[in-house]
Amino acid sequence: MLLSANHALALSWQDFSTVSNQKPDAVGTYNNGCLFGGAGLPETGEGFQVIRTSRNRFYGHPNLINFIQSLAIATKAKGLDDLLIADMSMPRGGNFKSGHASHQTGLDVDIWLRSFEQKLSIKQRETVEKLDVVNKKQFKVKTASWNPDHVTLIKEAAKSEQVARIFVSPVIKQQLCDMEFTDDAWLNKVRPWWGHTYHIHVRLSCPKENSHCKNQKQVADTDGCNELAWWRNQFTKPAKKLIKKPVKKKAKIKAKVKPEQCQALLVNK
Ligand SMILES: [Zn+2]
Repeated sequence: MLLSANHALALSWQDFSTVSNQKPDAVGTYNNGCLFGGAGLPETGEGFQVIRTSRNRFYGHPNLINFIQSLAIATKAKGLDDLLIADMSMPRGGNFKSGHASHQTGLDVDIWLRSFEQKLSIKQRETVEKLDVVNKKQFKVKTASWNPDHVTLIKEAAKSEQVARIFVSPVIKQQLCDMEFTDDAWLNKVRPWWGHTYHIHVRLSCPKENSHCKNQKQVADTDGCNELAWWRNQFTKPAKKLIKKPVKKKAKIKAKVKPEQCQALLVNK
């Protein structure tokens, strides 16, 4: 029916509260894609708790669900408290209405740099406060909130073969670079990026069998520790005086075109 077809076109990704029934398929890029056959992460499990479930962003490719559950078991075995799992993807992936541009294919997860020994109530999980571990101006981690568990978490995650990248604040990367590790090959995957001062963002590689999933370029074969000077400069240089610039006409931002396959997910609510 024409009417319902038109209606379907107006739907957007956050309108869907259920996953699609197809077999798991991550389609497109992390910043422009969608997810067939996603699965929800249970709200709590061994070594983890999902926070802010009202956002409905706790879905992912089964690889991501398995990765999070195994990581939480591994970190618990190393004595860590429950990991707080924040944004993953929406049931069918796609663009978030607010926040970050990625997390679209069910292969990204934000894990907070804060953990809890006890299981929190739903209300507590909804309102838990962020714990910033970074002092940007000093380009140092905050001794009051940074602890060795954070290193264990990042290292454990980065060592997984499924993990392509982990985004952290450059200050956190510096902290890791300043430490001595017997094996530090995993450090290559830990990438400095803006934000990420209270959470890390773990990104899995495309599942091999998902032929429409586009990986990013593989990370370089170096630890990247000597690339932090630029970041340090950005964070510590004095703020520039505001000079009034002539107002330029804004260039039109071209809307990204979603991979064709994704359209099938925006119907059959
Ligand atoms: Zn993220």
